Amino acid sequence: MENCIFCKIAAGEIPSATLFEDDRVRVILDLGPAARGHALVLPKEHHADATEMPEDLLGHAMAVGARVGAAQMKALGYDGFNLIQNNGLSAGQTVFHFHLHVIPRRADDGVLGLWKPGTTTPEEMAETAALIKPLLEA
Ligand code: 5GP
Ligand code: ZN
Repeated sequence: MENCIFCKIAAGEIPSATLFEDDRVRVILDLGPAARGHALVLPKEHHADATEMPEDLLGHAMAVGARVGAAQMKALGYDGFNLIQNNGLSAGQTVFHFHLHVIPRRADDGVLGLWKPGTTTPEEMAETAALIKPLLEA
């Protein structure tokens, strides 16, 4: 896709600190890292977000992300990692070419505040499930 920065980086037209590359993805270091080693898995094909990704490519990106997380832990002495993937402005997506964040973690590093657990009821859960479930049964 023209004018897509991640298309250009994934294709190697713009240089990047590349950790891994195969025929379907390139893994680069993030320019504004949440922690040292923060990486992005970029598919070489342009897909705006997860809803547009073919399932096999989505699975491959996740599998590569898990390998990258394991390597971050070993290479940099981390204890864990988050695989995070933002879809839509409201979810914090700023670059509209699918990318999976691999963010290495240490205990109490304060790097990410994910969510504050809320409350619900069995009735609300049943109502909510009834709204979403039919759309997944195609
Ligand atoms: P998003 O908020 O869309 O999930 O994440 C976009 C990420 O891409 C951010 O973490 C940002 O730092 C990173 N980023 C944006 N532009 C570039 C770039 O040109 N090169 C690299 N390596 N990372 C980028
Ligand atoms: Zn793109």
